[in-house]
Amino acid sequence: MLGGIISIFSFLGLIYYTYKMIKRYQNTTGVSWRIQIGYICYSCKTPVKNIEDISYDEANSDDKYCLCKVCKRDEDIDSLTGNIKTKLINKIKILLLKDFKKLSIVHFSIVVILVGIGLTFNIKYLSALVNVMNFFYAYVNYKRTVLMTEK
Ligand SMILES: [Zn+2]
Repeated sequence: MLGGIISIFSFLGLIYYTYKMIKRYQNTTGVSWRIQIGYICYSCKTPVKNIEDISYDEANSDDKYCLCKVCKRDEDIDSLTGNIKTKLINKIKILLLKDFKKLSIVHFSIVVILVGIGLTFNIKYLSALVNVMNFFYAYVNYKRTVLMTEK
């Protein structure tokens, strides 16, 4: 019973965030390329360099993620006071931007294993767990979309 309720709410949440993600793609401009080449800050999306200053080689390499002066300063100030929140948030942002494929592979591997175990041993609660995991995946995917787009 409880498993069923959890599953229903997770599924509704999944639909909600998938819908929000699609809407976000429709109503905004993609900036992932500009983030990749380090033209805009990956945290706050303000321009870091002039687009004319970016060389052809730089534009074709895709590992130039960087922070603007303001975000870098915020990180430094936080580090000084022993607060790691800003740094942690920026680390999560980078992880979502750069390593989302790996994250997806890990997620779907776990889902397949859990479904396999659940079906083999007839454990009902595992399907609720899988639904909760899929909900979080949809949520994280939406957050990633927000990072990669701009109004
Ligand atoms: Zn910034």
